[in-house]
Amino acid sequence: MNQYSKIRAQLDKAQDEIGRTPERAVQWILTRLVDQKVDIPDIGPTDREKLSYEVIAFLQCHWGGERPQKSGWVIEVTPSEKSHMVSKGQLYPRLFEPDTLIQFQSEARGLINNYLAWQSADFPFPGGTVHCLRLEDGRPVLVIDTPSISAFRLKCAFLLLEVGNHLAKCKDCDRIFYFERRRINDRCKTCGSNQRVRLCRKRERQRHRLRSGGK
Ligand SMILES: [Zn+2]
Repeated sequence: MNQYSKIRAQLDKAQDEIGRTPERAVQWILTRLVDQKVDIPDIGPTDREKLSYEVIAFLQCHWGGERPQKSGWVIEVTPSEKSHMVSKGQLYPRLFEPDTLIQFQSEARGLINNYLAWQSADFPFPGGTVHCLRLEDGRPVLVIDTPSISAFRLKCAFLLLEVGNHLAKCKDCDRIFYFERRRINDRCKTCGSNQRVRLCRKRERQRHRLRSGGK
């Protein structure tokens, strides 16, 4: 077993540990990070490595694929810092330093405690804040508080998640168009009907040629 397949095996094990649904993942967070009995500086290097793999698996998993949200979105989180290293032409996930694991732990504790106290939690990130809250009728909402250009980008991203598979570029006129039906169209309405007319005329010509003896 080379180093890469060893890492792959560790990650698969970690993925089983955190599960593939939000229900399993929240239980993983509670037992492995939020629980007051777990103190990262006290745990041994082997267990710390295991926890590091689990956090990587947590960051990589996307639950939507397993049990789609109402809208069918898959939400994936990709850490933007250099989270991988290359060695001998292979890509390895970078394990976290103990200090980073401690940060993850205090984040998890703080956010979950806030959520329980206020039915909301704020997730600040460079460029804005995501507020995760519950309306009076119990509906969960995400409010993303960010400058208007970022808000516009995010809104576009959500729009494309919702209807992106109804957009196509016409292979004849290059115009981008929206289509209602599930079937994938490769021509816009105008070019599509033009093509049907062309095909129809071609068939007529062929029939005509056959009738007049293939000249
Ligand atoms: Zn067209």
